[in-house]
Amino acid sequence: MSKNVNLVVRETKVIDHRKPDNPKILSGPVLTNSPNAVLSKTLLGRYYDLPLPEDRILATYIWIDGTGEHLRCKDRTLNFIPKAPKDLPIWNFDGSSTGQSDGHNSDTFLYPRALYKDPFRRGNHILVMCDTYKYNMEPTETNHRLKCQDAYDKCKEDEPWFGIEQEYILLDSDLRPFGWPPGGFPPPQGPYYCGVGANKVFARDLVEAHYRCCLFAGIPICGTNAEVMPSQWEFQVGPSVGVNAADDLWVARYLLHRLAEEYGVIVSFDPKPVQDWNGSGAHTNFSTKKMREENGIIEIEKAIDKLSKVHMKHIRVYDPRGGKDNERRLTGLHETASINDFSAGVANRGSSIRIPRSVAVDKKGYLEDRRPASNCDPYAVVDALMRTCILNE
Ligand code: ADP
Ligand code: MN
Ligand code: MN
Ligand code: MN
Repeated sequence: MSKNVNLVVRETKVIDHRKPDNPKILSGPVLTNSPNAVLSKTLLGRYYDLPLPEDRILATYIWIDGTGEHLRCKDRTLNFIPKAPKDLPIWNFDGSSTGQSDGHNSDTFLYPRALYKDPFRRGNHILVMCDTYKYNMEPTETNHRLKCQDAYDKCKEDEPWFGIEQEYILLDSDLRPFGWPPGGFPPPQGPYYCGVGANKVFARDLVEAHYRCCLFAGIPICGTNAEVMPSQWEFQVGPSVGVNAADDLWVARYLLHRLAEEYGVIVSFDPKPVQDWNGSGAHTNFSTKKMREENGIIEIEKAIDKLSKVHMKHIRVYDPRGGKDNERRLTGLHETASINDFSAGVANRGSSIRIPRSVAVDKKGYLEDRRPASNCDPYAVVDALMRTCILNE
């Protein structure tokens, strides 16, 4: 069924739309139906068929803004096909509009770092993941990529691999979870995780489109599943090597936001969107070459021991607000461990670190750090794991 084409004002209990990433329930009139949801989805097809000059390549530069959490992008035309990030021009943007500079000295610089194929435009068009630098060429406050690259350069020989499970929820334009009954809650959690059926999962077509776009773009997405809360989903990327894992995850997030924009729904990476329901995490699975070899379990246990000594240090970098966001999620309930305590266990989803059952049986493999919040910066998470477990910093 198509959505109501009019913007409707209705009185209902909604999530606070003034602060979309930290929602709480409140009452008031709200607009429903995203304008995007009612735009024609076929009109653009006419213009996609327009033959473009063959030597014109469109590049979308993508970067993390001053929140450390949200993405920005802008497009430019190139007259050559770049093979590597270094072939691309350094670019700039108005940092005063993204929380990355003041207005008097606003030029902020974009350094291309990773290239992906553009699933929206296809052909030779590309997406360019960038990091950001201030007027004086110092990294901006939310540029965690630079130090992540540095850590990776120092421990390349250990071949650190990362696989990240990205959980998220979809919101309708009234900022309530997509498909939830107006003013109320769906029946309690239980039937929705990996669910099938129109009363269990919502917007599977968006999830399927995202899966395909990631693969086309060159992101090693390795799976997806419906999560515990209706309209909560997960996708997994990796394993990828070092800093690449974080590039991949950020571009996968970009694709999700970009697709959801077309569907007229909103993606929220808030780690605890609704009280008393499962929150959203970004479980980070980590291994080194030694962990993957025979009896690697000894190396895994050594890493866990090191992690146990710097628990709060990791908590501070596992969400963009120094632990404040994760406080709402890591309660000890809903398949989490308490934010204040470090714990590790085989197959234990109530611990900070889980050793998957298959890893305990094989005595080699990887560990799962369950603490990173869904809105974490994976550059910061990957950086912290390499520094603690490999570089002994
Ligand atoms: P869970 O049982 O916790 O839901 P998933 O199947 O969702 O696990 O995710 C497993 C993740 O582990 C994937 O992202 C995958 O890429 C990652 N992974 C698998 N093997 C390794 C490894 N050797 N090193 C690092 N990550 C790995
Ligand atoms: Mn998972
Ligand atoms: Mn999950
Ligand atoms: Mn997991």
